[in-house]
Amino acid sequence: MTILNKLQLKSLLKSSGNVQKDLFAEALLVRQKYFGNNVYLRGIIEFSNICQKNCYYCGIRKNNKSVQRYRMEMSEIEACLDFIKQANYGSVVLQSGEMLDEISKEFLLKIVQLIHQKYPELGITLSCGEFDFDFLKKLKEAGAHRYLLRIEASQKLLYEQLHPSDHSFENRVEVLKNLKKLNYQVGTGNLIGTPYQTLDDLVEDLMFFQKMDFDMFGLGPYVPHENTPLFETDYVKHWGIKKEEILNTTLNFIALLRIMMPTCNIATATALDSLHSKGRILALQAGANVIMPSVTPQSRREDYFLYQNKSSVDAGADETLDLVLDKVLEAGFIPVFGERGNAVHFCNRM
Ligand code: SAH
Ligand code: SF4
Repeated sequence: MTILNKLQLKSLLKSSGNVQKDLFAEALLVRQKYFGNNVYLRGIIEFSNICQKNCYYCGIRKNNKSVQRYRMEMSEIEACLDFIKQANYGSVVLQSGEMLDEISKEFLLKIVQLIHQKYPELGITLSCGEFDFDFLKKLKEAGAHRYLLRIEASQKLLYEQLHPSDHSFENRVEVLKNLKKLNYQVGTGNLIGTPYQTLDDLVEDLMFFQKMDFDMFGLGPYVPHENTPLFETDYVKHWGIKKEEILNTTLNFIALLRIMMPTCNIATATALDSLHSKGRILALQAGANVIMPSVTPQSRREDYFLYQNKSSVDAGADETLDLVLDKVLEAGFIPVFGERGNAVHFCNRM
């Protein structure tokens, strides 16, 4: 394994031209060794946009009163699951705002139980925020396999600049540790290109990911949303001209992560498509190996607007899958159907 020091990481994070080409080539070689040309598919159901938190960057934060809030009915979720089975996805991801009240927790538990009973072969990933140890244990026992919780920023100072004071950095780290204790396949990630962030912060994120020995990553570029506090910053006013740099840094980050953690699953963020029409494909070419097409019904999509220019907002689940497949195949990758696509890193760790 290539071991890079912090100075090298910092320099490679901003690389372009031939240096960047070599970086991607090395990452792709590592990717090929463990995954060949395979791309694992997960169907993502954004089942609720109700959130009790107020992250400064997020379009569905509690204080954004212009959002029409929804939580899908169980029958609507069942229809999404039927589509997932019919399309032969090997895994499902359930994502929502963070709600820690008993009714919301009970509802999530019911969904996991239902999937486990009806479709025991499906891999189940959750991405619903910071639950306590006991509830995460219940979800695991009910059949959940994986959990995605981005640290967003591994440096406490930056984390605190991006979140209100009642959001706890320590708790987020604690939950990630609990997920590992509970033998989940644990995924995290960061936002790249936020206000206040430096290249040193990103280097520390890479080190944090490696030190904590996570199994999966879902990281992506920050894309502004107008009804959020960060939109008011000077930085965001000039975001348009920074787009290309943010795209490059995100791709470089993915390539470095692939080289540093060869057997991890790295998912491509939909937000990449807001920066470039083939953003997610570029991420696959930089070392990512997972793609998560939305299976959320079209009628709900414009209410799950975490950031502006979200792609496929006017498409249904079938059209979204077709669009993704076309691009994946065109780039020479092999979409993998009917398999869970567990992280090799997790299998080795166990
Ligand atoms: N509520 C859960 C999961 C849903 S949010 C949680 O926060 O963990 C999923 C991810 O969307 C977050 O982790 C965040 O990194 C990302 N996100 C939110 N606002 C964003 C923005 N403006 N640009 C890009 N990604 C954003
Ligand atoms: Fe809620 Fe997640 Fe958005 Fe934060 S990022 S406001 S927790 S949905």
